[in-house]
Amino acid sequence: MRDLEKLKKDSLASIEKWKRHGGFIATYKCPFCGEELLSTTPSTEKDEWDTICTCYECGTLHYKVQSKGYVEAFQTEAFQAAGMNDLEFTQWIYNNYTIGDNSMARELLENVLDYAKGMNETEQYTFLRRIIPQVPDGIIRKVSY
Ligand SMILES: [Zn+2]
Repeated sequence: MRDLEKLKKDSLASIEKWKRHGGFIATYKCPFCGEELLSTTPSTEKDEWDTICTCYECGTLHYKVQSKGYVEAFQTEAFQAAGMNDLEFTQWIYNNYTIGDNSMARELLENVLDYAKGMNETEQYTFLRRIIPQVPDGIIRKVSY
């Protein structure tokens, strides 16, 4: 597995630090593996944060909404990736993943996705899997391009 142990260690360390400085935290369950996860939350009622993050237990991406002392998590793949068109998909990947080095990333990604358009489903899947390995399997499978 990819550096999950490191991710877990880093996540817990930054949550611990947040807490030490008086920040609120909460536990919630990963919508994929069901493991209990710790998260930072806003410390005031009026704030709400939403993020796409990686579960430090199973490595799956999910979407979470953090409000003071409370976190609600959703399966990203189910409601975000499905039904996206290619522009939305490009934007979504671009927003959520680091691809190449920043200045070139957008153009590079567009070229990659453009190139993938002419392929059949299996070819496309294999190709995208190789070029953007940081995007989870389930998402690439669900977006027919
Ligand atoms: Zn998980």
